[in-house]
Amino acid sequence: MPHPRLILAQVLTQAAAPDAPEPHAESVGAEAALVDAGRVLAVGSRTELSARAPGAEVLDHRDLLLTPGLCDAHTHLVTYGFTLSQLGLHGVRSVAEVQRRLAERAACTAPGQWIQGGSFLLSEMGLSGYPSAADLDAVSPHHPVALFSRDLHLLWANSRALELAGIHAGTPDPQGGQIVRTPGLGTLLENACALVARVIPEPSDAEFLAAARAADSDLRARGFVSTHTMAFEPPQAALALQELDRRGELGLRVWACLPHTELDTAARLGLGGSGGGSRFQWGGVKFFSDGALGSRTAWMHAPGYADGSGTGISVDSPELILERGRRALELGLVPITHAIGDRANTEVLKVYQQLRPLADARGLRLRIEHAQHLRAEDLPLFRGLIASLQPSQMPGDAALIHELLPHREDLSFASRSLLNHGAVLAFGSDAPVVPPSAQENFRASVTRTGEGGLQIAPGEALTPEEVLWAHTRGPAIAAGWSDEGWIRPGVRAAFTLWDRLGGEAKALVL
Ligand SMILES: [Zn+2]
Repeated sequence: MPHPRLILAQVLTQAAAPDAPEPHAESVGAEAALVDAGRVLAVGSRTELSARAPGAEVLDHRDLLLTPGLCDAHTHLVTYGFTLSQLGLHGVRSVAEVQRRLAERAACTAPGQWIQGGSFLLSEMGLSGYPSAADLDAVSPHHPVALFSRDLHLLWANSRALELAGIHAGTPDPQGGQIVRTPGLGTLLENACALVARVIPEPSDAEFLAAARAADSDLRARGFVSTHTMAFEPPQAALALQELDRRGELGLRVWACLPHTELDTAARLGLGGSGGGSRFQWGGVKFFSDGALGSRTAWMHAPGYADGSGTGISVDSPELILERGRRALELGLVPITHAIGDRANTEVLKVYQQLRPLADARGLRLRIEHAQHLRAEDLPLFRGLIASLQPSQMPGDAALIHELLPHREDLSFASRSLLNHGAVLAFGSDAPVVPPSAQENFRASVTRTGEGGLQIAPGEALTPEEVLWAHTRGPAIAAGWSDEGWIRPGVRAAFTLWDRLGGEAKALVL
């Protein structure tokens, strides 16, 4: 049954001219949008649209802004869902604060049950050395406790957890990892984290489903209508999202990536191409060109890190990305490569030059995740590519960038330069690394200011309208969605309502 609805609001249609060149961040105002059967029918004046559908139900949001629906272009969606019920330690300032929160959690958790959580940073806690198991034992001796740092390169465990993992003073360091011994056992680095992680019981299918549902409703409550989820999760995560979709309970539109190691599975299952109208869709294949800044594993050109710790590491080789990237494109899947360091970006851009003709022929956009630290001479190679950035991580990284990469500071999180060189910006959070917050991306992009007032490359600032574009139309272009990211006839009726751009937001999907 047709059920037209007339939304009254300050409508920002964005790139209203159908022939507007992309990327295009201008917004054009209107005062109403007419929708029916999940699609926008028309945008214009109230009088004009009321005349067209006199029986339409009126949704009066005249005091609010109506924009295309927000997309978080980089999440680990189900993993984020799990963190919502875990012990969140984002922003804790001391060991005592961790102890206070852990004690509260232990009091309402059955003895013997694991307490998991994390998202703390040692630097934010004022620690110069490593924490120990004893700090956690003091408030939680009866539950095994495993707390991951925000970048997931460090795990802080209590004695009960170490015992279950069989870790004692005589345990040798595993390959590529370190069991910290001073001031006592309790901190595990890199591959040593797995020693504890592997003894934590696997969540059940029902728990995966609950985590998927929790993430879905959390993002919608924050104003998002869609997301791109970036693999690096167990296979049950995607299965849970597909199950929600099958039941008609998935609120977000989800574009999902496979790890490149699963390409053969993708070929066998016939994955790739656009989804059949459902909300879940396989779209990309994920590669990692390097590591991360905090652990000095981001791959840098010489001279590398200013503290003398080298030039980082290459993870998936350029040859591998070229060969499997070609195979991904042939299957209709977009190659997506994590590249943080300037060298990683150079190498991926070179590979993408070679993949470009095939991508163009398939109508797919090659994509780089993070593109965090760049050389000026590489910028022109971004033309037409997707640059998927997470500006909300810049404030937390500001001090580190200033200290480790003073020679690259001017082209760190270089949104303005990327836009000027014709890259398509797609903004996200990398949740659960930081919370999925469009507001934080607005703030960081507009002010360029990190903790302690430290500004990073202020010339790279964007306008709020440009940030909106990078959170709506940019991600839609990345996913090949012609019916999302703007408000015009025929698009999905998926909007975000704001008190002001970058302010409070809520999703409106009709
Ligand atoms: Zn990620």
